[in-house]
Amino acid sequence: MIDFHCHLELFPDPPRVVAECVRQGLYVLSVTTTPSAWAGSAALVADAKRIRVALGLHPQLARERRLELPLFDRLLAETRYVGEIGLDGTPELRTYWMDQTYVFDHILSACQAAGGKIMTVHSRRAVTDVLDCLEAHQGAGVPVLHWYSGSQRELARAVGMGCWFSVGPAMLVGEKGRKLVAKMPQDRVLTETDGPFAALNGQSVFPWDVAKAVVALADLWAIDRGHVETLLQDNLRRLTTST
Ligand code: MN
Repeated sequence: MIDFHCHLELFPDPPRVVAECVRQGLYVLSVTTTPSAWAGSAALVADAKRIRVALGLHPQLARERRLELPLFDRLLAETRYVGEIGLDGTPELRTYWMDQTYVFDHILSACQAAGGKIMTVHSRRAVTDVLDCLEAHQGAGVPVLHWYSGSQRELARAVGMGCWFSVGPAMLVGEKGRKLVAKMPQDRVLTETDGPFAALNGQSVFPWDVAKAVVALADLWAIDRGHVETLLQDNLRRLTTST
């Protein structure tokens, strides 16, 4: 199974979570919210062959941490994966929109200059702006829109632009989320949890809870679980060998 977007170092007992991921043979992309979190996150999974770390600067921290962009630039050569990055248009974060767009533009330019990265992208209430930025930075790499929650029209545009999507159990609980996932190309979907931030029934989700997303996808796509897992593994292989 694959968790293509979670925050391993933010769980209460990260080494225990990493050990369990290894025990279960999970493929995990551990995303960071600040460049200064990179070193600790990378050290945490140094012995885990199927776990990768993404270098990020979360839009929610854009104002507070934009001074870490030089550190981002220095670390970028160490990884093929970038995230969590993006824009967040919720009203309290719109206040820092200039910082958000400055940081996102800077990161996309850096990825372009580096020849392209695999990027896990946050787009809550800002899908059109995120897609505009991506379009303005051709060659920045392959965007994987994480926990997509925009409109059907924006989804069609994202699909047309070649975006990938990572979908989690929390997103698949609701009717709106399921209708969106139904329109995503099956060959550009991966599973994620966004743990420990995402919750199901009031409990933080763990990486192995992607099993619940696999069950939901099997239902949605009307194929069996084994077939879903094969398809997701093929997708991951294609994504990581194409860039
Ligand atoms: Mn996240």
